[in-house]
Amino acid sequence: MVFDLLVENGRLVSEGGIVEANLAIKDGQVAAVLAPGATVEARMRLDATGKFVMPGAIDPHTHGGHGDPDRETLLNASMAAAAGGITTILDQPLSNPSTVTIAAFEKKLAEGSKSCVVDFGIWGGLIPGHLQNLKAMYDAGAQAFKSFMCRCSNYPMTDDGTLLKGMRVIGDLGGLVAVHAENDTLIAQLVEDYARKGKRDVEAFLGSHPAYTELEAILRFIFIAEQAPRCRAHIVHMSIPEGAAAVAQAKAEGLNISVETCPQYLGLTEDDLRRVGGIAKCDPPVRSREAVDELWEFVIDGTIDILASDHSPHPFDKKVVPEAEFWKAGEGVTGLQTMVPVALTEGVHKRGMSLSRLAAISSTNVAQRFGLYPRKGTLGVGSDADFYLLDLDREWVCRAQDMHYLNKHTPFDGRTFRGLIEKTFVRGKLVSDQGAIVAGPGSGRFVPMRMN
Ligand code: ZN
Ligand code: ZN
Repeated sequence: MVFDLLVENGRLVSEGGIVEANLAIKDGQVAAVLAPGATVEARMRLDATGKFVMPGAIDPHTHGGHGDPDRETLLNASMAAAAGGITTILDQPLSNPSTVTIAAFEKKLAEGSKSCVVDFGIWGGLIPGHLQNLKAMYDAGAQAFKSFMCRCSNYPMTDDGTLLKGMRVIGDLGGLVAVHAENDTLIAQLVEDYARKGKRDVEAFLGSHPAYTELEAILRFIFIAEQAPRCRAHIVHMSIPEGAAAVAQAKAEGLNISVETCPQYLGLTEDDLRRVGGIAKCDPPVRSREAVDELWEFVIDGTIDILASDHSPHPFDKKVVPEAEFWKAGEGVTGLQTMVPVALTEGVHKRGMSLSRLAAISSTNVAQRFGLYPRKGTLGVGSDADFYLLDLDREWVCRAQDMHYLNKHTPFDGRTFRGLIEKTFVRGKLVSDQGAIVAGPGSGRFVPMRMN
């Protein structure tokens, strides 16, 4: 057989270990994993000497297609993903219109097919009044459904009754329900108390979102999930180590639950928020240095299953606000292009996380949890040839202007990262080369979730 591409002399990383091997690709898929030096014919060869060949990252938490042209586009989001080693994005349902009907799903499918330079999947939404729409979205490939346990500026909150009912319906279908876990009234009360004292600055924001407001919702979600045991349960963007301990206990008791955290909770602290301001404002907020260190322990020991970007941009005028009016700053940070670099710098280099663990939390576990495996999430024979070449020790400085986002800001502006993503391939095609995007809009394909 003549292969389309042979990636030679690299070190191939999987969740199970690292081997020296050549990766042979044909028709967009891995056709063979060969011993170094094996003689084969290939139309193109790529020398990966001294580099790691990493399975393409899969971001299960992208807000790229919300239909608000000021915030982000699927084209920009997917370009940033490619430059950051992410080969598949799963777009969240907080859109205009929200992805809670099959019509809205189809609209986003058309937009993604026209725009994306990496592969993409689509979430559905679980909100009050829309339970009758779940099955059609599930059948179309949106098998993960998102709920908010608290109020959100552009997406309805889901009450506990609807959440449980929805989890039973989705559990019978075979799908997954994920929550943004924060207690609505505990936070609202604290915000009101600060506002009455005229305090709307960064300290008021942090003070009105203490860890217990997140932990209460996590514990309540675990309780609700226990009443719908057929449903896969998932907690998005968890920021607190106490939450990880609670999830570990629920798993030990047999609950089908997973949890993700994000680079902002692993690479930023409250002091960074004070320094950077609105650009680093997200919800839940970034936490203390101690919490960040403890959260890392749960990432490395396997309690936290998944790394996600929660890429959720706003235009500059919504993010850069006077200090005394910090409450006005939009919640959500950019993150697609810096997700893997933060994990490499803070996790692999500073805390000794293995590259195999990174492959697990950024790729394999995500594909398995969201019904994309083994098409995605592995570089085994027959899988899509999604990967990036990593120069593990190369240092570089993150600059906001180099981000491919529509709004070119990042809370990591000026940060020195260690570990450079040199080239990103999707289905065997080069998409990003030294950060420059070489694939055109629409080269990415829709990937349906198939959980059964
Ligand atoms: Zn959220
Ligand atoms: Zn989000």
